[in-house]
Amino acid sequence: MALIVQKFGGTSVGDVARIKNVAERVVATRRAGHDVVVCVSAMSGETNALVALSDAINEGGPASPREYDVLVSTGEQKTIALLAMAIEGLGESARSFTGGQMGMRTDSAHTRARIERIETEALRGALDAGEICVIAGFQGVDPDGHITTLGRGGSDTSAVAMACALGAEVCEIYTDVDGVYTADPRLVPFAQRLDRIAFEEMLELASVGAKVLQIRSVKFAMRYGLPLHVRSSFVEDEGTWVVPEEDVMERLVVSGVTCTNNEAKIHVRNVPDQPGIAARLFTPLSDAGIVVDMIIQNLSRDGSTDVTFTVPRTDYSRALELAHQASREMGCDDVGGDEDIAKVSVVGLGMKDHAGVATRMFAVLAHEGINIQMISTSEIKVSVAIEEKYAELAVRTLHAAFIEGDAAQD
Ligand code: ASP
Ligand code: MG
Repeated sequence: MALIVQKFGGTSVGDVARIKNVAERVVATRRAGHDVVVCVSAMSGETNALVALSDAINEGGPASPREYDVLVSTGEQKTIALLAMAIEGLGESARSFTGGQMGMRTDSAHTRARIERIETEALRGALDAGEICVIAGFQGVDPDGHITTLGRGGSDTSAVAMACALGAEVCEIYTDVDGVYTADPRLVPFAQRLDRIAFEEMLELASVGAKVLQIRSVKFAMRYGLPLHVRSSFVEDEGTWVVPEEDVMERLVVSGVTCTNNEAKIHVRNVPDQPGIAARLFTPLSDAGIVVDMIIQNLSRDGSTDVTFTVPRTDYSRALELAHQASREMGCDDVGGDEDIAKVSVVGLGMKDHAGVATRMFAVLAHEGINIQMISTSEIKVSVAIEEKYAELAVRTLHAAFIEGDAAQD
C-alpha cells in the first residue's frame, strides 16, 4: 500500500460530470489499496471570474491583497466540497480540507505567498481513519491565520509540497494534456510525448514556456526527489514521468524546443565602463519587481559600453522609463528598445556531453534567414532572442532538426 497524491486541474473538475469522473478515479486508486490525498484547483474559469469581480468592484484600481485572497481562494473551496460529496456518493469516506485545515502554513505575502511549513497531523489522522483527503490547492494561512494564495497556477505547488511533506510515493498531476511534449503540439504537428524527463529539464522547459507545471512545484519535487507523473484525467494511459536525472534512461540531446512570445528588449548605449554601473542600471528594475532575463554587455571601446537585456513585454514601458532614468543619472541617456521579441530555446540533458548543439541551432536558424539578436546558455539549454514574427518558424525548424531528424540524437 502506497500513499499517492493526485492533483486535478481546473478543466478536470470543470463541471459536475467531470467532478464525478475524478471521484471515480480517486475511488479506483483507493480500492487498489492505496491511501489517497487529492488536491484540486477551482473549476475552470472560476478563478478568472473571481479576479474579474475583484477588478469590477475596485474599478480597475488595486484590490486589498488580503481580501483578494479571501475571494479567489473560494474557487478551490467549492471544488473540495463537491469532490468530497461525489466520493462519498461512491461509497468511500472523504473529507475536505481548506488551507488552514490542512496545515499549509505560508508567509504573509498575499497573492504570492511562499509555503513555510506544512503541519501534516490533520491529514495523517484522516488517512489513518481510512478517509480520502480532498485538499484545496492554491491556498494557505499565514502566521496570523489570514488566508493566503500562492500565485496563479499554485495548485501544482500545493499538491507537490503536500506530497513531499507526507513522503508520498508519487504525485500524479492530472491535466487536460496527456503529458509533456517535445514542443507545443499546437505549433508542431510532429511533437512527441516524452515518457520520462529529468527535473532539471522540466525546470528549464517550464521556465521557457512549457505551461504544464508551475515551476515552483518542479523545484519542490526536485529537492525532495519526489517523482511526478503528468497525465490526462480523460484517458487511462500513462503520461510523462518527471524524475531524477539518474532515472532517465534515454538521454536525448535535445528533449524539448519551446518559446516565450511576450518578451521585449531594451538597450542602453554608451554607459561608462566602470565598476557599479550594472548594479545602478538593474537595481531600480529589481526594486520594481521586474524580472530581467537575458543580459548582454558588449566589449568596451573608448571607456564605454552597451548593455542590452530582455524583460516581459508587460513590464516594457516601466522598464524603459527606469532605464532612461538610470542612464540619465550616469550622464548617457541613449536608450531604446523593441517590443516584439520572442525567446526560443532548446533544452536537453544530453547537451552536458554533446558539443555543438548551439552551433547547430545557429546554423538551422541562419538557413531560415532568422536573425539572432541575443544568446544565452546554461548547461542544458540554449536560448536565442529573435524577432517575434519568426518564433513559430524557428520552433518548427529546430524541432525538425533536433528531434524529428535523428542526426543529433544518438
Ligand atoms: N485556481 C488557481 C488559478 O487558476 C490555482 C490553480 O489552478 O492552480 O490560478
Ligand atoms: Mg495549472
